[in-house]
Amino acid sequence: MPVRTTTETATMREAGRVVATTLQAVRAAARPGVRLRELDEVAQTCLREAGALPSFLGYAPSWAPTPFNGVLCLSPNEVVVHGRPTGRRLADGDLLSIDCGAVVDGWHGDSAITVHVGTPDGDDPRLLAATEEALAAGIAAAVPGATLLDVARAVDGVARSHGFTQLADHGGHGIGRSMHEAPFVPMAPVPGAEHVVLRPGNTLAIEPMLHAGGSAYRTAKDGWSIVTRDRRRAAHVEHTVVVTDDGPVVLTAV
Ligand code: MG
Ligand code: MG
Repeated sequence: MPVRTTTETATMREAGRVVATTLQAVRAAARPGVRLRELDEVAQTCLREAGALPSFLGYAPSWAPTPFNGVLCLSPNEVVVHGRPTGRRLADGDLLSIDCGAVVDGWHGDSAITVHVGTPDGDDPRLLAATEEALAAGIAAAVPGATLLDVARAVDGVARSHGFTQLADHGGHGIGRSMHEAPFVPMAPVPGAEHVVLRPGNTLAIEPMLHAGGSAYRTAKDGWSIVTRDRRRAAHVEHTVVVTDDGPVVLTAV
């Protein structure tokens, strides 16, 4: 993994601050009756006013049928990640993942929150609390000398302790000059993760996605949205983190 200088991580912190501020504004706007597209417009305004560029708009990975159409991934209920901003209106009780990336002077920040829309529904508060706890555990494990297996075990241990599942092949990533850089940062133990040792200056995005039920998923007709096959709800939270001698530092905190 690349080792960033303190100057570089300071710029990533600026990008991260823009992301955090944007997520706060979108959280406040995420009310019943609001369209997903309107939330994307709130975020567009935040990024523009901060002088930052969006990481997601126009993003075109090889597997996607179309370039991404917004500055946010908005993933309601059974959509785990990669939901697109559409004309869909939020309903009371929805559980919405809001994922944002921003670029400042060529350096990226990437973070996600999950929010209850209106009145929290059913088991959603417990799912969201477990997902946030899993993220905190993953961040705490990102110390010099630890491996990506340690991070994965920390996240997955929390998920399992609450009886929740994760997708087998989704997780975090290195981040810096690009939003998605090597290595893949698994959220559950996979072979090979024990060989990636964290050093001060490494920057990574940690992003647990927890849900009830089975781990099977499908890609929706839009070619982007990742949906649980049994349509159980998912929560997703993410921070960009730098490993330092003094422990992990969250670059996407408010
Ligand atoms: Mg993200
Ligand atoms: Mg990410």
